[in-house]
Amino acid sequence: MTRRGLLFILSSPSGAGKSTISRMLLEKEADLSFSISATTRPPRPGEVEGREYHFMDREAFAAMVERGEMLEHAEVFGNRYGTPRAPVEAAISAGRDVIFDVDWQGAQQIANSPLREAVVSVFILPPSIAALEARLRTRAQDSDAVIAARMARSRDEISHWDAYDYVLINENVDQCAAEVAAILTAERRRRARRPALSGFVRSLNEEFEERQK
Ligand code: GDP
Ligand code: ADP
Repeated sequence: MTRRGLLFILSSPSGAGKSTISRMLLEKEADLSFSISATTRPPRPGEVEGREYHFMDREAFAAMVERGEMLEHAEVFGNRYGTPRAPVEAAISAGRDVIFDVDWQGAQQIANSPLREAVVSVFILPPSIAALEARLRTRAQDSDAVIAARMARSRDEISHWDAYDYVLINENVDQCAAEVAAILTAERRRRARRPALSGFVRSLNEEFEERQK
């Protein structure tokens, strides 16, 4: 019996490090894939269509929502973001875990969906607001006005921290990524998520019986 995959949600205020940490996790973890969101925001330098996001216009986005093809969707920083449903369902039925970089609205919708049993959510806090702003500036991909808007919204994002299963502070990125990996490992080991274990324990019992003969 194939294990059903986990829906592993990472949220944080913009610039706290969730994209960096999810990239680090994806490099190391087998059986983990990234949920590529759809967005109406324009690509940043270095972003590739179909890798970070599916970039689309508002009409194409609205059509996907209309057809029920989004698992969740929300408006963030004046752009629409959404999670295409089909790749997620295919991955988790095949026993692959899926990592989501979504905001608190997306996390809430996924946690209230029929897939809720398989959801694990992690919120990443910055060590300080000054550090958050410095990270947005060193990323050097947004204008001053966009950075100011992201900073203004980060307070609202942070206010939802207590709806998550786990909360981490990203002071040192290697340590924080190791903690996220530890959470993933522990959640994969939950007995309730391991239907194949009863077969394994049966085989151990058969081994006991063999030895008694
Ligand atoms: P970032 O904050 O630097 O990662 O900038 P982005 O423009 O890539 O993302 C802006 C916000 O939208 C972040 O909080 C993301 O987590 C969130 N986001 C990205 N994809 C989705 C999605 O599919 N659904 C929802 N609800 N939020 C998303
Ligand atoms: P998010 O996806 O949450 O918006 P990013 O992963 O893009 O954030 O990180 C924002 C910037 O901060 C990037 O330039 C990244 O390299 C840097 N960064 C991430 N974690 C740390 C950390 N612990 N210390 C210093 N810089 C960091």
